[in-house]
Amino acid sequence: MLMRHPTQNAIAPFELWESGVRSYCRAMPAVFQRALAAEIWDESGNRYIDFWSACGSLNYGHNHPKLKAAVIEYLTGDGVINSLDLHTCAKRAFIETFAVSILMPRGFDYVLQFTGPTGTNAVEAAIKLARKIKGRPDVVAFTNAFHGMSLGSLALTGNRNARMSSAALLNHVVRLPYDGYDGAGITELERFATMVRDPSAGLPQPAAIIVETVQGEGGLNVASTLWLQCLARIARQLDALLIVDEVQTGCGRTGPFFSFERAGIQPDMVCLAKSLSGFGLPMSLVLIKREHDVWEPGEHNGTFRGNNLAFITATAALNLWTGNKLMPAAIGLHRRVDDWCEAMTAKYPARSKGLGAMRGLAFDDERIASAIAQEAYSRGILLECCGPNDEVLKLMPPLNIEDNVLDEGLEKLEAAVTAVMERGTHNSVRKKRGSGLGKVNAPALCQI
Ligand code: PMP
Repeated sequence: MLMRHPTQNAIAPFELWESGVRSYCRAMPAVFQRALAAEIWDESGNRYIDFWSACGSLNYGHNHPKLKAAVIEYLTGDGVINSLDLHTCAKRAFIETFAVSILMPRGFDYVLQFTGPTGTNAVEAAIKLARKIKGRPDVVAFTNAFHGMSLGSLALTGNRNARMSSAALLNHVVRLPYDGYDGAGITELERFATMVRDPSAGLPQPAAIIVETVQGEGGLNVASTLWLQCLARIARQLDALLIVDEVQTGCGRTGPFFSFERAGIQPDMVCLAKSLSGFGLPMSLVLIKREHDVWEPGEHNGTFRGNNLAFITATAALNLWTGNKLMPAAIGLHRRVDDWCEAMTAKYPARSKGLGAMRGLAFDDERIASAIAQEAYSRGILLECCGPNDEVLKLMPPLNIEDNVLDEGLEKLEAAVTAVMERGTHNSVRKKRGSGLGKVNAPALCQI
């Protein structure tokens, strides 16, 4: 069944009053009303299967019953909602749970810094601290990196469209090729280290190196464990701090709680956000190796560092991990999505990309992925595209999606792929308003 499109009246208030900066709603214009687990309904009663998870911020699905119950109980008891960084019972419970269920079993000695509530706030805090510790301004970031939209993070982000409006202000970043970028690998990292050591090579000594172990917005590029280990070693040798941006990869998206665990490395700082609260409530965190916690009181302040409702749901979400039911379910999901991607690459000219529950298909013709996403939307599947030209169809279902819903979603998605490939023309690519950037599909879709 094809979805009914919203009437012009239904979306008029958004079009009339909301800024032109809005992006996802252009490709998925329904007016959504209700959501449960991996399903979401619009106000006309159309049902969609969610392979998007609000860009990785709903790893446990919509309105998880245990998290919802915790919210209701807290609100019913008139729990404190915002308290900046005052001590609260909700915050203490989160800290203790995080320490006991995540840090201690891994032997990690990080302190927790609660930053402003979004991913970019965590990244800003991490690079500011690194610059303070090392007394040097430059930070290494990689091709196709995405670290956020505020100035410091944007300087680290590779995407030209995102950088354009602030280009003149985006400085003190050294850009290196990510693993696999145009064939680059460990050799390029080693050469960079040699150049930094060479007093006449003209390269600054960086304060930090920031990396995503899988590039979510950049096209589901996966760094090898060897490359990550080499990066960690080079950071140490250059006396630069290693920051892993786990905003999208964290909270089990690639398998273990932290995506860097597969490489056996221990970053100096880790940025977490998106699925940390588990419920879609804004919450961010920087993990800082204890010896690097040199902040003065109030040196990186902010009003919304005490979202107690998010602490409540985040604690309940961590308890899903300690119950250990999540991992087996997620591994089942990895296998099914992996099989599906392999089946698609056997049939069509596509490459399978990504890791764990962060998977996708890359198409050489960059219009195809967007056309499939649009076709899938019309068949009741929410998902987005990523990569520098939106050439990768990105599947990020909730980690605990029910098998039957996953199968139904994959079937519908396959039908959308087949429809677009058989049509042969990609004339139904997603439209983006007035970009003038020479792209017909919506690059802004990939920026959050
Ligand atoms: N880092 C990464 C790896 C991300 O994927 C994102 C968002 N897509 C951010 C940082 C920025 O997070 P936010 O949109 O919450 O500021």
